[in-house]
Amino acid sequence: MPDKNVIDLIAATHNEGKLKEFRHIAEGSRLVIRGLDAELVKAAAEETGHSFDENALQKARAVHVLTGGWVMADDSGLCVDALEGRPGIRTARYAGEDARDEDNVRRLLEEMEEVPQGQRGAAFCCSLAVIGPGGGEKVYQGITRGEITRERMGSGGFGYDPVFMPSGHERTMAQMTAEEKNRLSHRGRAFRMFLEELER
Ligand code: IMP
Repeated sequence: MPDKNVIDLIAATHNEGKLKEFRHIAEGSRLVIRGLDAELVKAAAEETGHSFDENALQKARAVHVLTGGWVMADDSGLCVDALEGRPGIRTARYAGEDARDEDNVRRLLEEMEEVPQGQRGAAFCCSLAVIGPGGGEKVYQGITRGEITRERMGSGGFGYDPVFMPSGHERTMAQMTAEEKNRLSHRGRAFRMFLEELER
């Protein structure tokens, strides 16, 4: 018999790094997190909003319309002080439409080359949109402050992790264990808010 306490939820992301983090953080909770199948990947690809919230909702709604069940989608990015908040919602496409993580990181380091120590502050932002089976929507936000390093350090995580050093730490997110990163990351913070609400 299916366990009534279990919540079957689709994470509307094609990013394996994000999926791994969600599953890791959700261990021991009531959530069973599924990724996207081929049809849903296409549905969740659109990101035409003007904010992290709008994009996260757009991706979650596109999947919810097709499945009717629990869905969550996150839109996240890096807002750099010295670049007046850029790349922001364009973080995934910073070096061009089909840019890979390493292209984006290279562009960021180049743009920041002349920016002195003490002025390299940045925030990683995450908006996590969750839609329940009844269609109720909620967006959880998580922010992590830190600074952009001068070079890549570490091989863990994904995306911009090798050049982002969270405030109060001497290592980049790519030099941390998955537990450490998830404890302090923008995504970890937003996702735990949802999990805590679920367990109430
Ligand atoms: P999204 O899929 O539109 O949310 O794109 C997010 C962008 O931010 C991608 O370039 C990711 O690599 C980057 N990003 C989001 N979260 C993280 C993270 O936890 N570490 C490093 N890069 C991240």
